[in-house]
Amino acid sequence: MKAIRTFTVRPVLADSLAALDRLASNWRWSWSRTPYDLFSSMDPELWAEVGENPVQMLGAIGQERLDQLADDEEFVSRVREEDERLTAYLAGDRWFQRLEGDKPVHIAYFSPEFGVDGSLPQYSGGLGILAGDHLKSSSDLGVPLTGVGLFYRAGYFRQSIGDDGWQRESYPLLDPYGLGLTLLRDTDGAPVQIALDLPGDRRLAARIWVADIGRIPLLLLDAETPSNSEELRRVTDRLYGGGGEHRLLQELLLGVGGVRAVRAFCAATGRPTPDVYHTNEGHAGFQGLERMSEYITGAGLSFDEALAQVRASTVFTTHTPVPAGIDRFPRDLISAYLSSALFRGLDAERALALGLEDYDGGDRGVFNMAVLGLHLGQHANGVSLLHGDVSRHMFGALWPGVDADEVPIGSITNGVHAPTWVHDRLKELSERRFGDSAVPTHDWTDTARVSDEELWSVRYDMKRELVAEARRRVAASALQSSPVAPAWIEDLLDPDVLTIGFARRVPTYKRLTLMLRDPERLTRILTDPERPVQIVIGGKSHPADDSGKILIQQLVAFSRTPAVRGRIVFLPDYDITLAKTLYPGCDVWLNNPLRPLEACGTSGMKAALNGALNLSILDGWWDEWFDGRNGWAIPTADTATNEVERDDAEAAALYDLIEHRLVPTFYNRENGIPREWMSMVRHTMTELGKRATADRMVRDYVTALYTPAAAHDAALRADDHAKARELAAYIGRVRASWPNVSIAHIDQTGIPQQAAAGDLLEVKAAVRLDGLCADDVAVELIAGNTDENDELVYTSSTRLRARGPAGADGLTEFTCVQPLTVTGSFGYTVRVVPSHPQLVSAVELGLVTYAS
Ligand SMILES: *Cc1c(COP(=O)(O)O)cnc(C)c1O
Repeated sequence: MKAIRTFTVRPVLADSLAALDRLASNWRWSWSRTPYDLFSSMDPELWAEVGENPVQMLGAIGQERLDQLADDEEFVSRVREEDERLTAYLAGDRWFQRLEGDKPVHIAYFSPEFGVDGSLPQYSGGLGILAGDHLKSSSDLGVPLTGVGLFYRAGYFRQSIGDDGWQRESYPLLDPYGLGLTLLRDTDGAPVQIALDLPGDRRLAARIWVADIGRIPLLLLDAETPSNSEELRRVTDRLYGGGGEHRLLQELLLGVGGVRAVRAFCAATGRPTPDVYHTNEGHAGFQGLERMSEYITGAGLSFDEALAQVRASTVFTTHTPVPAGIDRFPRDLISAYLSSALFRGLDAERALALGLEDYDGGDRGVFNMAVLGLHLGQHANGVSLLHGDVSRHMFGALWPGVDADEVPIGSITNGVHAPTWVHDRLKELSERRFGDSAVPTHDWTDTARVSDEELWSVRYDMKRELVAEARRRVAASALQSSPVAPAWIEDLLDPDVLTIGFARRVPTYKRLTLMLRDPERLTRILTDPERPVQIVIGGKSHPADDSGKILIQQLVAFSRTPAVRGRIVFLPDYDITLAKTLYPGCDVWLNNPLRPLEACGTSGMKAALNGALNLSILDGWWDEWFDGRNGWAIPTADTATNEVERDDAEAAALYDLIEHRLVPTFYNRENGIPREWMSMVRHTMTELGKRATADRMVRDYVTALYTPAAAHDAALRADDHAKARELAAYIGRVRASWPNVSIAHIDQTGIPQQAAAGDLLEVKAAVRLDGLCADDVAVELIAGNTDENDELVYTSSTRLRARGPAGADGLTEFTCVQPLTVTGSFGYTVRVVPSHPQLVSAVELGLVTYAS
């Protein structure tokens, strides 16, 4: 019979083991080898059964075994050591504490998903795992950050593959207590509950779970509370479950509820109010409207003043150029919420305008969460150099008249949390040879420290582990439909064979089945009698995406054909747990998206830190860091006239690379070791180790975005928001005058017909300012080389100075003298842009006037 309620009963721990509770409920165990080993050593079989989660382990292990362990001196002393380590980790000064100068006080980091560990399935793919890695590196670096998300009762789905190759989804319910989360309580010890007043007299309440990610608290809002109707309890049932209003309610809870949860958390714990709000993708965009509402009703600011204050402190990161990855809602649906009591004090029409696609090529009936994010975030970025560029073009219409390369969206390339993703065998090798387990910080090209033989043998062990895990998973999957597992599974994969890995979500642009383009050729590659290749694949398709499920089915069907069976395998239920075995167990990591749709991609970085070489389309991070020695670039068939041609050409290039480059390098041996291969492995680990980590990424966020955002926030907030009021008034004035701002004429002197480098160019511009004063604007000389279309390339800009007040003709004269430093075809133009110390970019208001 089925229980109607389930819960986890905690055991009673002897005093000597009491610290286990604390160790189990801080997720640091998930990226530190010693506490992980401590828990798994309590009962290795049970550890696997409980999904490698220590709180589950403590619940399941039984009093008898615990009593035994309490008498085991060695175990007790390990517990004590781990407890001391955790205490030291949580307390000490780290990178952030040693950072000089003004720093942010507290950063609230919002994300719809967080991938912290396989046993906490609150993520669907890269976006969530990046968020989890961001928290972990912030913890390691001592950055004062708090994560804000939702607690999905069933998380993302578990995947199995039927006999027909079709993806099946299941949604096991999670018990937050059983995962080591704690309810946020107020200073009186009562559980905190926040609530949102929705239209139609509904009230959406949520409790707040706190997960301790090292030093970082992660707040997860949960609508499963008796205060809610059945219907509203379902708001946090699943990650990316429903569409339309269900999704909107999730995002309102994340954004509006998230801000309220942070307030309650700060009140309960005495932490300072955040001065920076970072939204990881657009889903949490309503946080900005909630904060504007706070400023309007609390501090008496106007809409524009509140907007200026919120923008100053908001960092927005866009994560995808794929339209389907961006949330868009019908205008009328949003309008109903914006004009309800939920957003007190907010002018609904104006708030709506912040998210409407009210620009060339947009749909005015649509409220777009990325547009809202860009309007509310004065600091915005994409997630690789290439993606920054793609985003500037993609969102350029929001800043009409602004050149794409000046659109105010920068980039910070993603990274991965090395302690989570580097395999224990490699960490041990690093400890033996370099004295610590910080693998990416070391010089692996130093053959005197680590021999080829030693590194190869560690990599071989990791491959063996993947082979064993693949056999175990495929056998378990087969046993679901037949009483005995087929014999061929015992020979599935071979650690001596060149192993290529490919795993990711399955949206169309990632092209899961590109490798199947020419099945005969692939079969020949896989089954070469002398130098075979094997491919290990994984990936989940969104439950509503049948086209993705069809791709999985095609791949599964191919992998089951007798000719290739055992050399290519699809492993079901790709998640963090599988990923941790998969990346280190591959020689090569493959990625073949349609360029430039992969904003960054991170799986290849995780593989690289474990010594795998990348084989990838030049997209995302690979476009930036491929250097000819860390793997291979699949050429992009940009000139193809249609998709079929493009896929054919890129697949052919992929096969060519495997046959002519990968296979010979891998199988060319000297005393059993592929020397050239190993030198590429060493180069990869060393060079990408410097760049591809989340530590580097978080440091970049702190210095390039969080610190300026905090400074802007403080400046605007001081003296009862004096500068916010002043900035809003300034923007109002500039916007009103701008239509009449113009450059009446330009005089140039100093340059003879035959200009030479060093000649002085003197430019005078007569500018109509229409009531603005000279300090309100910057008049800029933009000069540089020109191309064949007279377009300026490689420009520099010089500010012209006003020569006095406006004359009787209403014109103000601006001048500058500029030596010619470039040679060749040269050109310049003059423009007027707003100028104010609290603007981050000269063109962020979208106001630019060029000389004509
Ligand atoms: C890293 C990771 C991803 C993201 O991989 P991409 O290369 O960015 O697509 C997805 N799922 C899991 C389980 C991961 O570990």
